[in-house]
Amino acid sequence: MNDELNDDELLRYARQILLTDWDMDAQICLKNAKVLIVGAGGLGCPVAQILARAGVGYLHIADHDTIDDSNLQRQTLFTKDDVGKYKADVAKSALIRQNHLIDIDGTVIKLTCDNIDELFGVAKFDLVIDCTDNFAVRDLLNKSCIQKNLPLLSNSAIGEMGQIAMFNRQAGCYHCVFGAEMGDDNNCVNSGVLASTVSIIGSMTAQIALDVLGRGNNPIQGQLLLWQGRQMSLRKLNFQKNKDCPICANLD
Ligand SMILES: [Zn+2]
Repeated sequence: MNDELNDDELLRYARQILLTDWDMDAQICLKNAKVLIVGAGGLGCPVAQILARAGVGYLHIADHDTIDDSNLQRQTLFTKDDVGKYKADVAKSALIRQNHLIDIDGTVIKLTCDNIDELFGVAKFDLVIDCTDNFAVRDLLNKSCIQKNLPLLSNSAIGEMGQIAMFNRQAGCYHCVFGAEMGDDNNCVNSGVLASTVSIIGSMTAQIALDVLGRGNNPIQGQLLLWQGRQMSLRKLNFQKNKDCPICANLD
């Protein structure tokens, strides 16, 4: 547990420390925070680089995939030279170059119910951020986070739209809001996505994560944030914990 900032950190984070209601205390909270980011694609890239630059003390990036030429339109941590390499490895190296004052790890892993406990065990995480585009992994993350009483910040983007919500035992879980229906994965491969959409949604997700980790304030508690790019509209819908939810009922 660190209770102060060194000279390098004071200089690096000076503009943030000046913020109203931020101060040294919030920056020290960030320094002590441990965050797991699952998925280093269009959403994971902006989320990870904002949290890294802002001074979150420990970031762990988990992703199973390699970088493809078609990723470069929106996945801002990667360049042409990285094609064919593992996203988790390249993201880790890129993030270390952006901020050497924090600790960063990367794991190449395709999450299943057999290996998720191992990943969650690498650190005492304060927050898990779901940046995947896969329903099975999203469902797995939701169940594990509720079981371990870890807040799950979930974001997704498709086409020119996106959504963000924070799930926990008190507010309700992903299953409370979306049910068990898996359906076909409606993802960027078959539906397309505008370069700006993932950066906007990822940046808003990072804003929420910084508020939660720095100030202990969740600005979307019990709410689903919906972004529609073509109309430039942002809406918040309230959701409630389902008292019959098979994942989170009788837990609080
Ligand atoms: Zn639930």
